[in-house]
Amino acid sequence: MEFKKAIGLEVHIELSTSRKLFCNCNTRFGARPNSQSCNICLGRPGAMPILSRKAVDYAILAGLALNLHISDYMSFDRKAYYYPDLPKAYQITQYYQPIGVDGYIDIETNKGPKRVRIKRLHLEEDAGKLIHQPEKQITKVDYNRAGIPLIEVVTEPDLNTAEECQTFLEQLRLIALYLGISDCKMEEGSLRCDVNISLNSKDSKLHGTRVEIKNLNSFKAIQKAIEYEFERQREILVKGSTIVAETRRWNDKLKKTESMKKRDRGDDYRYMPDPELPTIRIGDKRIKHISLKMPELPATIYKRFRQNYCLSEKDARLLLSIPDLARLFEACLLEYNKPQVLCNWLTGDLLRLIKESNTDIKSIKLSPMMIKDLLIMIDNGLISTTIARKVFIDMFYSGHKPQLIVERKKLAQVTDQKTLEAVTDLVLKQNKSSVSDYKAGKKKVLSYLMGQAMEKTEGKANPVILKEILTSRLDQSKS
Ligand SMILES: [Zn+2]
Repeated sequence: MEFKKAIGLEVHIELSTSRKLFCNCNTRFGARPNSQSCNICLGRPGAMPILSRKAVDYAILAGLALNLHISDYMSFDRKAYYYPDLPKAYQITQYYQPIGVDGYIDIETNKGPKRVRIKRLHLEEDAGKLIHQPEKQITKVDYNRAGIPLIEVVTEPDLNTAEECQTFLEQLRLIALYLGISDCKMEEGSLRCDVNISLNSKDSKLHGTRVEIKNLNSFKAIQKAIEYEFERQREILVKGSTIVAETRRWNDKLKKTESMKKRDRGDDYRYMPDPELPTIRIGDKRIKHISLKMPELPATIYKRFRQNYCLSEKDARLLLSIPDLARLFEACLLEYNKPQVLCNWLTGDLLRLIKESNTDIKSIKLSPMMIKDLLIMIDNGLISTTIARKVFIDMFYSGHKPQLIVERKKLAQVTDQKTLEAVTDLVLKQNKSSVSDYKAGKKKVLSYLMGQAMEKTEGKANPVILKEILTSRLDQSKS
């Protein structure tokens, strides 16, 4: 029996507002536990929530970017459940009137383009964080995260493979990054995903029983969980048994999903409108105002990188993966119009240095003008690429102009015939056995001798002239 997978995603994206959704507490990641909490986010009796305007604007912006229909009115509801990370014993979310409905993202799959429908997008508050210490048999709770604004993006079950889910999530992540509404750091929990997966026989039009896998926080975990769950459900169906509607969790150590709870009723959260938060009219004026702030979206930039600059799919995606890098690339292009050369420097040497020095593109000392000056020095034969890479490192750390570095360190290429002839003669004298090898027909030693001569000039010899001298000297000595 052949089966098809139907996968729907519920993606939580933490918004990067500096304040929480209903109070003024700071949202910085990594602060001392419980140092960023107050009466409101701790749910103390009598504390009243005050809605963050910025969080609503961010959610509307996301809704517009995801092609959603933005609702005229939105309201907040209480989702009741009892858990230690939820001090009020209910979470404030949007159940009856979310910010937006009926949108989509177009993704590229190996079978061509595919539209993934988005059912809804709503705004809600995050819960606190439990820190389990099994060795001491205790669990600690940190409420710094409680009340941080989240958007939840819920798709229709339009995805069929783990790869498609990954492509969708990467695209959604990029959109949020380019909108500037979240840092989308999966490792810090700013982007988390629940996966709904059901299996059914290939020709059936209906979806099978839905199993939910909660709180996946890496692309790898998502992929592994989907693959595992597909196999598990397939085995059950092949045996003729039925799938239980339940919520499961991914155990990364054992590489398997485990049952958390059965879902006997679809809705056991006793949703009720929050009496402390009024229904809000969003209105065309506000939507229009926000849509004017819409930046260029990654899909458009990707198209330009591919079509206008003729970059490969891999290069375009790499540049695009860091918004500041893509911006720097285009700023450099205004100065130096060789896209591929620029792309190689930025995605190669620059990214390596960024990683090495643990910094980010925003804080680097390199300007597009400096990068252009360096590349022109290579084009004019003033320095070799090898030297240029050294200068680039110096520029990166010192912020000095390349001309200054080349001058101070005397890095300009040696093109003087006499100097290079002297170097060549010395090398030939010191490597007599290689010279005899060359005479015996082993042409390979040429590159060894070139290397020796280069070393003597600290890599500054003009390779074309040097090679000319070297071959002519070798051929002379032959006859
Ligand atoms: Zn607070």
